[in-house]
Amino acid sequence: MNNKEIFYKHLAPTSNSPVGIEIESAVGSVLKDINGKEYFDLIAGIAVSSLGHQHEGIKDAVVKQLNQHSHVMVYGEYIQKSITALARKLASLLPEHLSTAYLVNSGTEANEAAVKLAKRVTGRYEIVAFQGGYHGNTQGSMSVSGNEMKKQAFRPLIPGTRFIEFGSLEQLAQITTATAGVIIEPIQGDAGVVIPTPEYMQALRKRCSDTCAQLIFDEVQTGIGRTGKMFAFEHFDVAPDIITLAKGLGGGLPIGTFISSQVNMSLLADNPMLGHITTFGGNPVSAAAAGAVLDEVSRDGFLDMVEEKGRLFEKLLDHVEVKEFRRKGLMMAIELESEEKVNKAIELALEEGVIIYWFLSTRNAFRISPPLNIPESDIREACRRLINVFDQL
Ligand code: PLP
Repeated sequence: MNNKEIFYKHLAPTSNSPVGIEIESAVGSVLKDINGKEYFDLIAGIAVSSLGHQHEGIKDAVVKQLNQHSHVMVYGEYIQKSITALARKLASLLPEHLSTAYLVNSGTEANEAAVKLAKRVTGRYEIVAFQGGYHGNTQGSMSVSGNEMKKQAFRPLIPGTRFIEFGSLEQLAQITTATAGVIIEPIQGDAGVVIPTPEYMQALRKRCSDTCAQLIFDEVQTGIGRTGKMFAFEHFDVAPDIITLAKGLGGGLPIGTFISSQVNMSLLADNPMLGHITTFGGNPVSAAAAGAVLDEVSRDGFLDMVEEKGRLFEKLLDHVEVKEFRRKGLMMAIELESEEKVNKAIELALEEGVIIYWFLSTRNAFRISPPLNIPESDIREACRRLINVFDQL
């Protein structure tokens, strides 16, 4: 049996139409398949490989850590240098009250725990979430995600979840003194890069403060430089009570985190003790990779470069087929006339050696989320090929 046959027979599918290219290697922002064909990776594993593939700093940090130790204990028991260094770095980049990180393995796990924390802090259970929001696929995160069609087969999900319209000032009144937490992506990703106004985000912050509801920013996708700021909330001049991160944090290694004040976080250790536990959370090898990512993304000028590269994409992809171009930094949604055109564009791009990808629940747009350090020459060549694709739609 070759790899392709094994893939289709022995690995559980997520759909009937996987992309199915067989990867040989990946370097920088280029993937190579087993036939030697190269592809510009404009997706970065869905905003994960934020410094591209085989980044020297990440490789060095990982190898160094492997040579010291990998997993030695469940989260929270032993003191390990790559983990404390990461926690300190995160605290130095965030507002003072977001001082204390709990490390987990993925975005959905970070959000599950953030919702638990909001309940624990407030003693309430109701969660307010947003239409169009996506927070992950485990049952808790799915419960606070907006896509009704995707949730249908898995009900009942967790009770006490209320959905409001993203961007509606009026509906903020539904956040009340019964609300434990409000979970929101500061820029909605899966909804197709939907960017709220600063006024809305500030009103949301005020409503949460007035009702003592915990405001959770899910920055799993928007965090760590993706939008041209270290954290997307910096665009709006507001800060959350709890922030969740994952995806780009590990630069290709699995790691997530939820972060809040020390007072809040200490509640998970008491009454009951071990209120949140994980075996793999805070894996020292992943933590070492994340440390290398943060060093690079916080380097002087790096984030300005992300915004500049985003502008270059926007300029080069100007075409009559593009109905709307939504973007913050290198988080982009390109809207076409129809779902059919999106499917055709993704297929033709693959033939041209460019990887672009769907959103989960926005059918008439595709996403671009390349490595943040993609070279300008790669952007120019990939966009030239995409213009070819648009010409064929
Ligand atoms: N939150 C947001 C905003 C996401 O975009 C995603 C994944 O796409 C998740 C949570 C879930 O993260 P994971 O797939 O690591 O569980």
